[in-house]
Amino acid sequence: MGKGQELYKKAKTLIPGGTMLLSKRPEMFLPEKWPSYFSKAKGCKVWDLDGNVFTDVSIMGIGTNILGYGHDEVDDAVMATVRNGNMSTLNCPEEVYLAERLIELHPWADMVRFARSGGEANAIAIRIARAASGRDKVAICGYHGWHDWYLSANLGDDKNLAGHLLPGLDPLGVPQNLKNTVLPFNYNDIEELQKLIKTNEIGVIKMEVSRNKGPEDNFLHKVRKLATDNNIVLIFDECTSGFRQTFGGLHKLYGVEPDMAMFGKALGNGYAITATIGKKSVMQAAQKSFISSTFWTERIGPTAGLKTLEVMERERSWETITSTGTEISTRWKALASHHNLKIGVSGLPALISFAFDSPNALAYKTLITQEMLKKGYLAGTSVYVSTTHVPSVLNPYFEELDKIFGLIKKCEEGLPVGTLLEGPVCHGGFKRLN
Ligand code: PMP
Repeated sequence: MGKGQELYKKAKTLIPGGTMLLSKRPEMFLPEKWPSYFSKAKGCKVWDLDGNVFTDVSIMGIGTNILGYGHDEVDDAVMATVRNGNMSTLNCPEEVYLAERLIELHPWADMVRFARSGGEANAIAIRIARAASGRDKVAICGYHGWHDWYLSANLGDDKNLAGHLLPGLDPLGVPQNLKNTVLPFNYNDIEELQKLIKTNEIGVIKMEVSRNKGPEDNFLHKVRKLATDNNIVLIFDECTSGFRQTFGGLHKLYGVEPDMAMFGKALGNGYAITATIGKKSVMQAAQKSFISSTFWTERIGPTAGLKTLEVMERERSWETITSTGTEISTRWKALASHHNLKIGVSGLPALISFAFDSPNALAYKTLITQEMLKKGYLAGTSVYVSTTHVPSVLNPYFEELDKIFGLIKKCEEGLPVGTLLEGPVCHGGFKRLN
């Protein structure tokens, strides 16, 4: 057992759930074998605690590092901030500059609030939108973080959120009287949303612009019209989609403007900074509610955000990662057809995933992770693409993957996949750990 697994065993006795993020639990990748902890990360390379180095062709810090890990320019800007002081009684000017910048990129918006996590940015948006609309009920589509307001959608039926990224989220500990305040609707189902609005006093619609598939039949425009006609605050959660296909929100691609939007993940290229932006008419409601937190005022976040935007703009990173992701998708499909395997590919090009069309899908994913790890890759069935995923990284990745697809073909023809797995199958969603 490597040092990482040993430390993780200890972690589970000290930290409930082992780690603070479900998606970084080793069980989500390769139970009992995943290196689990890093000592260093640079570009798309990650070093574990045993001195092994891996190429990350997986979740890249869960989408935080579009420019790769430890980007020199961003790090230098942060380092200068560290030397000059990260905190003081006075505020940091960078937050004003970053607010200006985000509004420049989204001219429909007038004002910005900052936070340090996506869930916080979402909770801020909900508080402001409820205050502005004067109504409590929220229609949602997508994943919007861990807070009570969101998880309450699963009160009474923990399958309500099953179609929204993470199945099986348990709302234990969320007050029962929040039941029926948050009502999910399915993406591209405008009639379902219409019905929700007709039968409930909805004040807010919050949704991801696109996650696994794009809008059909003018879905986003229709949602906008419904919101406008019914005096509902429309919020696009761009925590994940932002900066992956456009320079800013994905909604710019579709020409639909919300009343508020949130950015997270990639905004600071690995440093914690998230934003809630919105129209003045809505955002001013923040003044009437109490929304305030100490570390929302630290300086590293906005420093990293400003530098990240500068580098992204110069390199047009959203174009690079979109074309790389498109190529990855094409090559996965080519491998599958070469081995006569059925896969489905989904997601934004820069956040691309595939799944085997097989009852053994999760076991095959585990097999990929197990075998790719031996070859020096952190890999599964999805890739958050970064600008460091250049051909010299991807070509050898595909050579190795080719061989594993060959193994999977043998499994489809009768070889029990269990005979190839050296540990348990990975988890596919939320589970309580022992
Ligand atoms: N909204 C969306 C769309 C997300 O994808 C995520 C994170 N996966 C969040 C909110 C929550 O962000 P965080 O994990 O930073 O709290």
